[in-house]
Amino acid sequence: MQDFRALPSVDQFLQGQAGQALVARHGRAAVIAGLRARLDAARQAIHEGADGAALAQGIKAALAEDLARSATSGLRPVLNLTGTVLHTNLGRALLAEAAIKAARAAMANPLALEFDLDGGGRGQRDDHLRGLLRELTGAEDATIVNNNAAAVLIALNTLAEGREAVVSRGELIEIGGAFRMPDIMARAGAKLVEVGTTNRTHPRDYQSAITPETGVILKVHPSNYRIEGFTAEVPASALAPIAQAAGAALVNDLGSGSLVDLSAYGLRREPTVAEAVAEGADIVTFSGDKLLGGPQAGFIVGRRELIAQINRNPLKRALRLDKIRIAALEATLRLYRDPDRLAERLPTLRDLARPQAQIAAQAAGLAPQVAAALAPLGFHAAPCDCASQIGSGALPTDTIPSAGLRLTGKGGDAPDRLSARLRALPVPVIGHIRDGALVLDLRCLHDDAALLDALAAL
Ligand SMILES: *Cc1c(COP(=O)(O)O)cnc(C)c1O
Repeated sequence: MQDFRALPSVDQFLQGQAGQALVARHGRAAVIAGLRARLDAARQAIHEGADGAALAQGIKAALAEDLARSATSGLRPVLNLTGTVLHTNLGRALLAEAAIKAARAAMANPLALEFDLDGGGRGQRDDHLRGLLRELTGAEDATIVNNNAAAVLIALNTLAEGREAVVSRGELIEIGGAFRMPDIMARAGAKLVEVGTTNRTHPRDYQSAITPETGVILKVHPSNYRIEGFTAEVPASALAPIAQAAGAALVNDLGSGSLVDLSAYGLRREPTVAEAVAEGADIVTFSGDKLLGGPQAGFIVGRRELIAQINRNPLKRALRLDKIRIAALEATLRLYRDPDRLAERLPTLRDLARPQAQIAAQAAGLAPQVAAALAPLGFHAAPCDCASQIGSGALPTDTIPSAGLRLTGKGGDAPDRLSARLRALPVPVIGHIRDGALVLDLRCLHDDAALLDALAAL
């Protein structure tokens, strides 16, 4: 028998105890919408022969679950145990305490964003960062936009719109998330002139491509890939005189860009932004939330008159930064004035600089407790060595020795099953699957209790 009468009406449900409790928690509109959806589904099921009384019984619990699920944010914090420190899909750099405080103050209070406190007149929002960027990079001037993709876009649009931009075939990269250099150049209105081959480009390739129409010579950090073997690229220091002789601007897109020598932290040396400026680039662009360790932003530093030209481009207004990020960036950049304490204060460097022995000791300490939490599910946990990565295209083929926990279970799909369970936790735990196990790299775990608390919900 098709028994629709077992189902409550919306009014009946709202007046009952369970309905009232859900309304107090989630609001009337959400409960009504959720209940209607559940009732529709139940009527459909009864049409198809399901037992109305049984469905009616289950509606309360199902609705409570629906509402609880839609009330938790998809943006909730997770534990990044992937081993990739700057994980683009997990939001890249974590901000320093000083940056978080500055951002909070900027969110909660009026501030002198474009207001000159000395004269009482109008100021420029970029002024809060220009001085620091000049000091830290040695560049004549600086401007800031939404991200590094925007920095490349506005630099090319300003300096090469309707003209030619010369770039090596080995540097026409795609960075993921649909950032492809040729597409950005087309959107900037620059005519792409490719020179050299994928693996080798020589100074004469650039020289013979120069015409009166050349506006920019573009150098791009290959970021997430590396060409090995029979290769040749022209360093920016050799491109600078070629660009100068041609009356073109040399734009160097560093991608990650670092303000400090990473070899001081046990990583491989990458040219710093200051070195790129000193090599003779007219414009250098880099990201705020990669190795620099700040919020998302794109920095453009270089020659004063070119920066002024970029600032006059109407795109600048469309790509400008908000007060929250300007406040956080200012606090982040200030930390670079004291390099000796940078690794203590900047989470990105702190994580990258953690010695393997320290992480291995942490893994040994945590293994028994994690094993106990997983045993009821039929999984084992043991300490292991593993390899971390910087992420976000910085030193892509380099790994950093690390340590963690290797989680195993029965069956070929055990790592996938466990991975899904851990992702579904109220505080999701994100690891990576390797060699038939789910590996939790502990490099970015600074609070053991955070992992144990998360697993306690299993
Ligand atoms: C990451 C990267 C970009 C894009 O930077 P976003 O800050 O993510 O917009 C551009 N160029 C290079 C070389 C990069 O590595």
